[in-house]
Amino acid sequence: MRDKRIKLIYFSLGGSEVKDIALDWKKLILLSSMLLIILIFIIGVALSFFTDTFDNMKISSLEKVNFTLSSQLIEMRKQINQVESRIQQLEGEDDQLRMIAGLDTIDQDMRLAGVGGPEYVYNEDLNYFSADLGTHVFETKDLIDQLKNKIQLLTESREEIFDTLRAKENEIKHLPTIKPVRIGRITSHFGTRIDPFTEQRTVHPGIDIGAPVGTPVFASADGIVTRINRSYKKNKGYGKLVEIDHGNGLKTKYGHLDKIKVKHGQKVKRWEVIGEVGETGRATGPHLHYEVVLFDKRVNPIMYFFE
Ligand SMILES: [Zn+2]
Repeated sequence: MRDKRIKLIYFSLGGSEVKDIALDWKKLILLSSMLLIILIFIIGVALSFFTDTFDNMKISSLEKVNFTLSSQLIEMRKQINQVESRIQQLEGEDDQLRMIAGLDTIDQDMRLAGVGGPEYVYNEDLNYFSADLGTHVFETKDLIDQLKNKIQLLTESREEIFDTLRAKENEIKHLPTIKPVRIGRITSHFGTRIDPFTEQRTVHPGIDIGAPVGTPVFASADGIVTRINRSYKKNKGYGKLVEIDHGNGLKTKYGHLDKIKVKHGQKVKRWEVIGEVGETGRATGPHLHYEVVLFDKRVNPIMYFFE
């Protein structure tokens, strides 16, 4: 066994003196325990100090992040507002185009309601934000949803406009909108008139355009040649005649022609030369007798002229 005594040397004023102090294990353990407790306490204090400092640093860094995010959010909101005003412009243009296409405009309620899709639900995570920030985030998300809906609606509307205009363009192509003889004036209008042959009051079912023999006659709209009459009797009927079917119950007839330049069943386009002005049939001079027939009823061709 080792010597359990510890020699302590201390110096007094009057010189040196050696004193043995007997320390048994119990005292040693007590002393060590106290030292240990003090050490732990010091470490604890130091640790808590550093933790506090670290936490403070962390908090201040998070505060910075929070501040940056808030200002970024405000910045994004500004940009969203810019996008929104651009969308408003597009909505105005959409209204105009819809009117041109003959479609009803979309009212603002409908635009706001959008075309469906999931509604944004308040997220519990937003509770972590301050009340102000939470509202801000929620509103921003809502705004983005609204814009998405508006864009979706604009896209669908544009498709509808294009489809309608394409259909209309096709319809317009088949409307007899031009005077079939460019030179020459209308010498006889549609309606009742004194017949030049009988001098009786009769109905003139078309218009007469006076022009020299050989003047080109154009198809007044797209269509299919459904009738050609080459044989005629002098001073009787339409003379040499072309009839074009334009669909939708519309037909045009071109009478007293000198020459016919199309065949039965031929597809013709507006401005295509179908014949030449003549004075065949019941005509007192060279002219084109032009008729527009709508569902077997002859109507005034002037109603269709765009020019
Ligand atoms: Zn006539």
